[in-house]
Amino acid sequence: MAPLGEVDFASLDPHRFDDLLSPEERDLLDTAVAGGARRICGRRVWHVNSTARGGGVAEMLQTLLPYARGAGLDVRWLTIGGDDDFFRVTKRIHNNLHGGAGDGGDLGDEERRVYEAVLGRDAIELSIRVEPDDVVVLEDPQTAGLIPALRMRGVTAVWRCHVGVDAPNDLVHRARRFLHPYVDGANALVFSRRSYAWEGLDDGRLHVIPPCIDPFSTKNAPMSKGMAAAVLAAAGLVDGGQGGPASACVAHPARVLEAARPHTATPLVLQVSRWDRLKDPLGVVGEALLLVRAARVAPSPRGTGAASEVRERWERLASPWRERVHLASLSMRDPDENARIVNALQTRADVVVQKSLAEGFGLTVTEAMWKGRPVVASCVGGIADQVDNGASGVLIDDPRDLPAFGSAVTALLRDRQRARALGAAAHERVRRDFLGWRHLVRYADLITSVLGGAPGGGSSVNGVVPAHRTCARERSS
Ligand code: UDP
Repeated sequence: MAPLGEVDFASLDPHRFDDLLSPEERDLLDTAVAGGARRICGRRVWHVNSTARGGGVAEMLQTLLPYARGAGLDVRWLTIGGDDDFFRVTKRIHNNLHGGAGDGGDLGDEERRVYEAVLGRDAIELSIRVEPDDVVVLEDPQTAGLIPALRMRGVTAVWRCHVGVDAPNDLVHRARRFLHPYVDGANALVFSRRSYAWEGLDDGRLHVIPPCIDPFSTKNAPMSKGMAAAVLAAAGLVDGGQGGPASACVAHPARVLEAARPHTATPLVLQVSRWDRLKDPLGVVGEALLLVRAARVAPSPRGTGAASEVRERWERLASPWRERVHLASLSMRDPDENARIVNALQTRADVVVQKSLAEGFGLTVTEAMWKGRPVVASCVGGIADQVDNGASGVLIDDPRDLPAFGSAVTALLRDRQRARALGAAAHERVRRDFLGWRHLVRYADLITSVLGGAPGGGSSVNGVVPAHRTCARERSS
């Protein structure tokens, strides 16, 4: 079993956001950050999750932690070790928390034994690194089982859950029951939406922090249409001829399943997702859309599960539909290159769809909105908070309603003016609410609150402030 890994990340100055903010927003950020730094006072804040790259949580940590460090907080990032049995169980918990059966297996005594055996070993390693005065933020179900061991040592433990559903079914309740004994002991519980908080958890410890994106990252920095076209041609995703600039070079072209390569001018409807049934790739193919998957899952399109279902569905498509559907797998070997290609796709797309059946919070939606793209998405989970229907995108009530998706997409392809207006409103919505600066305000307030101070930045924290704890430096002075 792999041991705990420490993930390296840079330090970034939060003042980098200044040009994007109003004077009031700048004050808000300064106040929150100063409050958090005062309260942390020599302690370290550890984030623990299951992977350094791939998926929304790793993406969010890469976005947030450098700014927290740049704000003067001593922040670290660890990934847990685990074996195949452990990750099979945690994947099942994850699917169940979304209301899906996953592999259909149980969550009983045997699964608890597997889960606790791995996290028991991780907890021993963690206790060597973490001081009792520190704060540990545990991300998602994979790490929740570490909470009791940390609390026994007096460590402040925060559990952050990125998964949630609008209407919990029996599977959701089963997964929550499985996790409840661990989660119940945390000093604070963070959900992406208020409605994701579970029944039976102490309301006073709840905090709400939606995920954010980094506007300066390779994936989200402004990219010209010309550069996007050159990157996509270099990646083998559109027919663009030869001779783009050297900075458009791609060392790991995409693997694409298609009957004909799209031309640079072909209208492009895009969904970026992992191969996961909850992202409804079959429905997307049904809509003759272009789909991108993260290579983290099933490296070959002939793999198992959602990837092979999509491939089979594509093979059954009749002409001319088959020529219009392109299934692209982006290599993750060079994350920066992967991010550049995703940026190019999102910059180039005429409409971005997110046809998820369930979604905690869709980063791909925020990314597309930030690039001013008109988005058509299922009105599920966090997407309902991200998009104001009709103002900053289009939401489809029933995620399985293919005709509704189809006509919303077609309408936007035809009405370019409306598409531009939706895109502009989407960009402003993300600037205000879902960029790293806002997240840092909420994060600093969480740390301040959990260590016994009054949040200063005006976050959506809904916390009963725990008893005041003096820090080492305060005690000795
Ligand atoms: N992603 C990526 N490269 C890919 C495919 C996906 O970087 O080839 C990213 C995508 O841009 C987004 C994240 O993976 O930032 C997926 O996050 P989201 O919240 O949309 O879904 P999750 O995978 O967490 O369910």
